[in-house]
Formats: sequence, C-alpha cells, structure tokens
Amino acid sequence: MKLFTPDYYVESYHAIDLERLKRQGIALLVCDIDNTLVPHDHARADDDVRAFIKRVKDSGLAVAFVSNNVKERVETFASEFHAPCYPFAKKPLKRTYRKMMNELGYRSDQIAVLGDQLLTDMLGANRMHFYTILTNPVAKRDLKCTKVNRVFEQMIFSLLEKRGKLKRGNYDDKVL
Ligand SMILES: [Mg+2]
Repeated sequence: MKLFTPDYYVESYHAIDLERLKRQGIALLVCDIDNTLVPHDHARADDDVRAFIKRVKDSGLAVAFVSNNVKERVETFASEFHAPCYPFAKKPLKRTYRKMMNELGYRSDQIAVLGDQLLTDMLGANRMHFYTILTNPVAKRDLKCTKVNRVFEQMIFSLLEKRGKLKRGNYDDKVL
C-alpha cells in the first residue's frame, strides 16, 4: 500500500508549498495535466495554471509534463510553457520516467510528481522513488479509462484510510 501513498496531499495545485519541496531537495516538478491542472477536455491552460507554473519557475524549480494522454493534447497544452513534455507515458510504468531522467539529468531524489490519481501518478512515481504530491482532481468528469481506475482508486483510498495512512479530504495543505 505504501506505493499508493503520497508524500504530500494538497487540495489543489494552488495549495502547494514550494518551500516544502525545496527543503526536500526537489529541483524538478513533474506535472500530470488531465484533472491535475485542467479538466481533460480543456485544450489549454487557464490563467490560474499559468500563474502557478510561473510561481514554480520563479522559485527556481524546473517544470516538465508527463501525461498518459496523446501527443497532440499534451504538446498543445505544454507548448506555451517551453517545458519538456512526455505524452503517452503509460503511467504507472517506469519507461517514460526513465527516459525523462536520462534526457533531463535529474536524480530520483530531486524529482517531485504532482498528479490526481493513485493508480497512475502516485504508483508510478513511488515506484521511481520520486517525491509524490497528490491533488484533488479539478473536475468530476473523467475519461472512460480513468472512470475504471477511479473505482479501484476508491477501494485503495478505503484501505489506506483503514490503515491510517491517508484520508480523503484530509489535506496537508488547503487552498486558503
Ligand atoms: Mg490526471
């Protein structure tokens, strides 16, 4: 169950304390896109996301995008940020993360992953020994494949709660 448990649980990306990441030695923040930053049917970032990415970069952290979605969606979204992006990542598999580390040159202990799903984002990143940040999804709407994941996710949430590891809605940091 440890592989599903995030290191840091936030209500939304707005609530992320970047100083906390920097104290952990994080240098690269890897963001999922769909339902982490925007709903899956929003092609581009909104001003809130733009302000967040600027805040991350201004704090001295680098940004990358890793998504299980298709190339066109990911590149359209990421292009304005001039940050590396990795579509069709097949999270929770390790391959894309390995490729990213080879290309960008960060160690696993310098990388944080922000995502909204236990089964893809948290599991994949924990397997890589990255620092894991779970956010509440931004929208209730999900892609079909994600809907199936959410059923399993609810079961895992229930198990984690029973073991006192993670309680849904019991955030480390909330939006003020
Ligand atoms: Mg997502």
